[in-house]
Amino acid sequence: MNSQDDCIFCKIVRGEIPAKKVFEDDDVLAFLDIKPVAPIHVLVIPKKHIASLAQVDETDAPLLGKMLALVPTLARAQGADDGFRVIVNAGRIGQQEVPHLHIHIVGGHHPLGPMLAR
Ligand code: 5GP
Ligand code: ZN
Repeated sequence: MNSQDDCIFCKIVRGEIPAKKVFEDDDVLAFLDIKPVAPIHVLVIPKKHIASLAQVDETDAPLLGKMLALVPTLARAQGADDGFRVIVNAGRIGQQEVPHLHIHIVGGHHPLGPMLAR
């Protein structure tokens, strides 16, 4: 069995699990987080299975650049007209829960709080 077979975000890409999609093209999918931490909480994922930002290399740069470049448009489309925060949790220390690379876009209220508790 491939890691993709039971990967929850790969299942969303394949349409096996429903999601509230807000953007889709050949390479990238964006959808609303199922347990939002703020009024705006979008996840941006590559359609191909990449486990973590901790596992990318230079060959992934075009895809990563595309994902990041989509962020402001996606954020504005959700109503984030005065800024937002992007978070990418990676690996054990990053406390990444879903092992398929994703960018969190959060926003929609002020103040959002500190980046991390001090
Ligand atoms: P991580 O901790 O890996 O950075 O974040 C994983 C995120 O995925 C969490 O914010 C969680 O709420 C979200 N998530 C987990 N399972 C699902 C799901 O089945 N559908 C959606 N839309 N979001 C999910
Ligand atoms: Zn996956």
